[in-house]
Amino acid sequence: MFIICFDLEGVFTPEVWINVAKETEIDELKLTTRDISDYDALMKQRLKILKEHGITLKNIQDIISKMELLPGAREFLDWIRTITQVLILSDTFIEFGMPFMKKLGYPTLLCHDLEVDEKGMISNYRLRIRDMKRQTVIALKKMNYDVIAIGDSYNDTGMLSEAKHGILFRPPESVIKEFPQFPVVTGYSDLKNLISKYLET
Ligand SMILES: [Mg+2]
Repeated sequence: MFIICFDLEGVFTPEVWINVAKETEIDELKLTTRDISDYDALMKQRLKILKEHGITLKNIQDIISKMELLPGAREFLDWIRTITQVLILSDTFIEFGMPFMKKLGYPTLLCHDLEVDEKGMISNYRLRIRDMKRQTVIALKKMNYDVIAIGDSYNDTGMLSEAKHGILFRPPESVIKEFPQFPVVTGYSDLKNLISKYLET
C-alpha cells in the first residue's frame, strides 16, 4: 500500500521567505534551503533579521494569507487525494502553514512550530524532530507503507532517498546536478503520469 509525501513550498505554494523578503523589502530574507542547506543555520539567520527590523509573526501571517497557490496545485492535490493517502511534510511552521492548508482543502500537514514573545516577535522555533522529513518516511516504512516522496530542494533529498520512489519537482540546477538519481518533473501533468505509473507497480 502506497502513501505519498509532498513538500509544500515549491511544490504547491511559492516560497514564503522569498515573498516576505519582497513585501518587507529586506533582501537578506531571500535565502532559502535552496541556497543554504543547513536549515538550523538558515532559520537562526532569518530570526535575527526579523528581530532587527521589528517584524512580528502577525506581519508575516498577513503576507502569507495574501499569497496564492501555484497554478493547478489545488486541482492536482484534489485528484491525488481520490487515488491514495497523502501527507504534506514541510520545514515550515504550523503558524505559517495553515493559511495554505485552507486554500488546499485542509490536507494533513506535518511541520514545526514557533515560539512567540509578548510583543508578538518570533523568539525561537521548535523542530518537531531533527531531519523530520526523512524520519517520517522511515516511520511510514515501519508501518509497511510504500512511500513516494516529492520535493524541490535540498531539505527534501533525505525523504526522497528514503522513499521507494523519490521525485524532484521543479528543482534548481544545483539539486539536479547533486542528485542525478531522482527523476525530474516540471509540471503537474507529468507528475500525475509518473505517480500513476509508480502506483500501478
Ligand atoms: Mg520546497
